[in-house]
Amino acid sequence: MLEKLQALLKNSQSKYYHFPVACFLECQDGSLFGGVNVETSSPNAGICAERNALFHALSCGKNKNDFTKLHLYTESKESIFPCFICRQALIDYCNRELEILIYHEDGKIENYSLDELCPHSFSEENLR
Ligand SMILES: [Zn+2]
Repeated sequence: MLEKLQALLKNSQSKYYHFPVACFLECQDGSLFGGVNVETSSPNAGICAERNALFHALSCGKNKNDFTKLHLYTESKESIFPCFICRQALIDYCNRELEILIYHEDGKIENYSLDELCPHSFSEENLR
């Protein structure tokens, strides 16, 4: 998976902040939906890799019961987690058991659940 993420990372459009991110959203059937961050000259018009992958998967007809893992990669030495806008989108369209795997160049992989990364989150249950 690390090699796939590193290959996908080359597609990142990150000429403004120079912080390329790549991820794959994995489904129960083994299918993978890739996403990279796409920056624009007006920052709010860009999108993170995580939402790019999620929205692509949703556009292809997948739903929260399909998603099992999010594989996330940057070249940073630090552990990089999904931003809070992406966490909101993930909470709304994935199950809380979704595994979030954070890959490092040296092969180390950190593993969290979406629930761990989103304590006290706001979701559709709050709208009822
Ligand atoms: Zn994000």
